[in-house]
Amino acid sequence: MMAHNHLPNLAGLSLEKLRALFAEMGEKPFRATQIIKWIHQRGVVDIDAMTDISKPLRERLKRETCIRLPLITEGFASADGSHKWIIQVASGSSVEMVFIPEAGRGTLCISSQAGCSLDCSFCATGKQGFNSNLTVAEIIGQLWLANRELGGFKGALERPVSNVVMMGMGEPLLNFENVMDAVSIMMEDSAYGLSKRKVTISTSGVVPAIDRMKDFTDASIAISLHAPNDELRSQIMPINRKYPIKELLRAVSGYMESLGDKRVPVIEYTLIAGVNDHRQLARDLAALLQDFPCKINLIPFNPFDLSDYRRPSNTAIANFRQILQEAGYTVTVRTTRADDIGAACGQLVGMVADQTQRSRRLAEQRLQAGAEGKTYSRTDNLAIAADSV
Ligand code: SAH
Ligand code: SF4
Repeated sequence: MMAHNHLPNLAGLSLEKLRALFAEMGEKPFRATQIIKWIHQRGVVDIDAMTDISKPLRERLKRETCIRLPLITEGFASADGSHKWIIQVASGSSVEMVFIPEAGRGTLCISSQAGCSLDCSFCATGKQGFNSNLTVAEIIGQLWLANRELGGFKGALERPVSNVVMMGMGEPLLNFENVMDAVSIMMEDSAYGLSKRKVTISTSGVVPAIDRMKDFTDASIAISLHAPNDELRSQIMPINRKYPIKELLRAVSGYMESLGDKRVPVIEYTLIAGVNDHRQLARDLAALLQDFPCKINLIPFNPFDLSDYRRPSNTAIANFRQILQEAGYTVTVRTTRADDIGAACGQLVGMVADQTQRSRRLAEQRLQAGAEGKTYSRTDNLAIAADSV
């Protein structure tokens, strides 16, 4: 394994990059389509089994390239049909992915980074600090692994994963190139063939990256807003100090215009009791988004150890929703799924190989508090994030 580390990893190359690689090798460009089909359509990673490629070329590929995917270290099945897997990545960290089946579709929530540098006050991933950007193979590898686990490479007409949301760990737009390449493999007909409507990138609002997106993709987008004014948003999402709401909405509008279709972005709003769930804030949100076509997704806060935040009461959630609905918005409230598996393995996800002060402090606090179990689990967030996109 180690010996291959410097070789190009065929599993992490978009069709365009595979073509470039074959051109460099003096081979025909159609080889790229053959390879991407073997790996991502048929799930085959043994070069010897790629029978439409000549023996000499196979030997050459074995010498000059490799096929490496991340590893599943744990898998959990929920009573409600959801699955969660812990994936080990090269940096030594573990990330989560979650599959949520529903009538007529199956949504996979995947991670883009191990940890996250943005430190939103309500987010367990943020509290772990940042460890590493996932490689393209580690991002697309999550979809590959889910297909393998769920029987998606068996040539069945229906693939188990019909939708992908980048709502796992990390900020996708801070791992821009890798996420864009992985998304292009998801949407490539010779690979997974997911439509642009069924791949959603969720972002906390990295404005310059949103501005660049249109040159790379036409995937759907979800925006983590969580507050209708800059003062409150900056308190709970430090990134807002750099890219305030007005600039964020401007960038998102620009991206939506570039799509040239009728899609609208999803505005995500995590409701935290006593922090951003006041009725007046719902009215402010309705006013803020007046000229901004969108759907609104309310996410009741998911508590985790070492966070003092609480989930609002069902009445508070219903009130907030009603105000927005009366103002004419389409509003969904995410329901919690896969609770049972989230509780089972939160601790595993705490093993981000992170060296920052923040994460050390947290580990110490946890020890002092005698905390066990659920601390860093993101499963609940991941799982609920998917069901209304
Ligand atoms: N970094 C990206 C994508 C990952 S987070 C982003 O921030 O958009 C996916 C969604 O889960 C985001 O909307 C995020 O704000 C939300 N989220 C994070 N922690 C949460 C928690 N404890 N409870 C509810 N939602 C949470
Ligand atoms: Fe990072 Fe998103 Fe969590 Fe904020 S909510 S810390 S951007 S993963």
